[in-house]
Amino acid sequence: MTFFYNRIPVQEIRPNWTTRVSTSFVDDDTANRIFSIPLSESGSEDILVWKYEGLGKYFVRSGYRVLITECLQSNLHQSTSGADYKGFYTNLWASNIPGKIKIHVWRLFNNLVPHYGNLTCRKLSVETVCPLCQEELENSEHLLWSCGILQCVWSLLHITLPSFDVALDFKNRFVSTYLAGDDRQRRLISISLWCLWFHRNNLVHERVKFSMSKVLGFIRGYDQDLGLMHKNLCPSSSLGKELWRPPDADVIKINFDASYVQEKKLAVTVALARDCRGEVVEANTYLLEDVGDAFVAEARACERALLLARMMGFRRLLVEGDSLSVIKYVQKKGVDRSVLRPITFHIQRLHLLFDEVTYSFVPRTVNNAAHVLALEGRRRRVCGNWADGVPESVRLAVKKDWLLWSQRMLWRARLADIGCRRGAAAGS
Ligand SMILES: [Zn+2]
Repeated sequence: MTFFYNRIPVQEIRPNWTTRVSTSFVDDDTANRIFSIPLSESGSEDILVWKYEGLGKYFVRSGYRVLITECLQSNLHQSTSGADYKGFYTNLWASNIPGKIKIHVWRLFNNLVPHYGNLTCRKLSVETVCPLCQEELENSEHLLWSCGILQCVWSLLHITLPSFDVALDFKNRFVSTYLAGDDRQRRLISISLWCLWFHRNNLVHERVKFSMSKVLGFIRGYDQDLGLMHKNLCPSSSLGKELWRPPDADVIKINFDASYVQEKKLAVTVALARDCRGEVVEANTYLLEDVGDAFVAEARACERALLLARMMGFRRLLVEGDSLSVIKYVQKKGVDRSVLRPITFHIQRLHLLFDEVTYSFVPRTVNNAAHVLALEGRRRRVCGNWADGVPESVRLAVKKDWLLWSQRMLWRARLADIGCRRGAAAGS
C-alpha cells in the first residue's frame, strides 16, 4: 500500500522528522522511502492506493497476479543465469513483433501455458503426450525446445544453433540460441513458437490436421510482413521525422524534462519556455532531493513548467514533454490514484490560472534542448531561473530546433510551389 502525506511540504518537516522517524519506529530505509513520497502543495485528500493496478483499486485478480508474479520472481532469483535471462527479456520485449506473440513466448518460458503437463498436474487432462510429435510428455521444455516438430521447423527456417555445454538446461539452451541470432532469427523463433501453439490448439480442439508446409508458409509470410511493416514505419529519410515546432503567435511553449540520479534520489527538473520565433523567453532548473523515481521527477518538472508560466504571467500555454505517462496522468479525468496524485492534483489546480493549457507528448529527440538544460542544471547546480540566459550548449540546441523547423517549412513551401506549377501546366 502507498500512503500519502500531504499536509506540509517535506522541506519543512524533514530535519526533525528524519532523525525522529528513523531512530524511533522505522529503519533508515523505510524512513527514506517515506520521504520519497511526493507531497502536494494543494492539500489534496489522502487516499489508499493499490499500487499494482493502473486504476489504483484492489481487485482479487490483481492480488492473485501479484502473488504469482512474486513467486515467479523469487524462482528467477534462484536461477544462476539471471543475467542471461535479463538479456533475453530485454530483447524479447524490444523486438519488432506483436505483443500477443511476445506474451506467448514469455508465458511459455515461465511455464504459464495450459499444455498437457500443466493440465495433468491440476487433474484437468488425462492426455500427456505432445499432440504434434506424439513422442514425449508435453511440457514447457518440450514446447520451447525438445519437440521434434519444433526442431524440424527451426531447421527448415535455417535457425542457427550455437554449441552448448552438455550440462546446460533447456531454458539456457533456448536463451543462448535466441541471443546468438540476429533480429530476424529472433523474430522467426518467436513466431514459430506462437504459430506451433496455435496449430497445436487447432489440432486438439478443432481436429484440424497439422500441416508442416502450411506452418512454414505462415511463419515465412508473417515474418516478411513484419519486416516490411517495420521498414515502412522507420524510413531512413528524415523528411517524416518529428521536429520541435514553434507555438502559435500568442502561445508560449514550455518544454519540460527531468534528469534523475537513482542512487542519490536526486532530480533536476527543467522548464524551457519559447515563443513563436523559437526564442527562449525564460528557463529554470531545480534540484530536488528525496525523489522516489524518474516518473515522479518528470511530474515535478511538468509542475515547475506551470509554476514558471504563472510567475511570468503567460496566459496560453503549450506544455510539451517526453514522458507519455506523466502527460496521460495530467490529462486524466476523474480521480488519479497513481503515486503522482499529489502532483497531478496541484497541476490541475494550476490550470485554473490560465486561459488555455494544452499538453503534447514528443519523442526524446524533439525535447533535446530541455534535456541539455537538465544536464547543465545538474552540472552547475542551478536552482531557479537562468537570469543571465541559458548556457551555450542549450542555445545551440535551441538554434538547431529552429533551423530544422525553418528548413522543413522551406521544403514544404517548395513542394507546394512545384505542385501549383504542375497543376497550372495541366490546366493550361
Ligand atoms: Zn512434440
